[in-house]
Amino acid sequence: MEIEKIISLLGASGDQQQELFSQARDLRRQQFGDQAVVRGVIEITDSCRANCDYCPMRCANQSDSGFTLSAQQIIATAAAIRDAGITVVFLQGGETPETTDLVAKVLPEIRKLFDGDLQLLLCLGEKSRDELACLKASGADGYILKHETSDPELFRSLRHRDLQDRLDCLKNLLALGYQVGTGNIVGLPGQSRESIANDILLSAQLGTHMTSCAPFIPAPATPLADQQAGDLDLTLNTLALMRIINPKALIPTVSALEKLRPGGQLAGLNAGANVITVNFTPAREKSVYRIYGAERFCVSLGHAAATLQQAGLQHALRKADHV
Ligand code: SF4
Repeated sequence: MEIEKIISLLGASGDQQQELFSQARDLRRQQFGDQAVVRGVIEITDSCRANCDYCPMRCANQSDSGFTLSAQQIIATAAAIRDAGITVVFLQGGETPETTDLVAKVLPEIRKLFDGDLQLLLCLGEKSRDELACLKASGADGYILKHETSDPELFRSLRHRDLQDRLDCLKNLLALGYQVGTGNIVGLPGQSRESIANDILLSAQLGTHMTSCAPFIPAPATPLADQQAGDLDLTLNTLALMRIINPKALIPTVSALEKLRPGGQLAGLNAGANVITVNFTPAREKSVYRIYGAERFCVSLGHAAATLQQAGLQHALRKADHV
């Protein structure tokens, strides 16, 4: 699809938007039938050495109240994910070198808990090729590293780093044989529609297996706290276009959609997403994890099961009625 067409469709509304979503759902059905992927996420640390202007976990906000889960906590939580019938264990955290050894240690233990049917997915920020190779050798299957924005200047102004380093890291992940995910934030201050169109194209050009889009959420205690949130329709149109341009991709309906509007995650599935992530972080750490601030929306098993059912998608959750 030409970039001009993508830019135009990003503004779709009314019947044109419904047609866009319908096309995205048709492509999802052709690739995946009516089966959705459910992931169980464990947030393992809120320490981060980066200083992204949109994120409450930025290093300028680090304090003594930060946490890192122990290996025992992570393994016990992975067992709860298994007991829920979920076979994708997703370890997520801020970017800190300490996670490499910790995660390399727990991955083989988590694998022992499952009967062969397991995907181990990581989202731990930029790491060196050697660190990524070590995690792969320890059993990691996938790694998510969102490019956030494809605009090098916007990237530098908001993340205080070079986009090229992130792209090099994505290339390392692909070369190491990871299933790789990337994605963008929609509605960043200073971001144009053309820039979002380039984000969509970059996701496809990189040859990644997963992609995502999340609306910008202004978080307290960040330089962007007073900015406007990303627009839900623009985010849903981005998601649908990601599906149309990259039909085989796994695309999550992220919790930030629900934060923007109740029913936002159902809208994401109806726009072509096929993944939902249930939060299994232990209660104390879940309450202090600072992404999007204290008022974030945490996806429970019950919410995920109900949302998938409303979207007409199948899942393998066993204990959705317990939450
Ligand atoms: S967005 Fe990620 S890398 Fe940036 S400060 Fe937050 S946790 Fe760290």
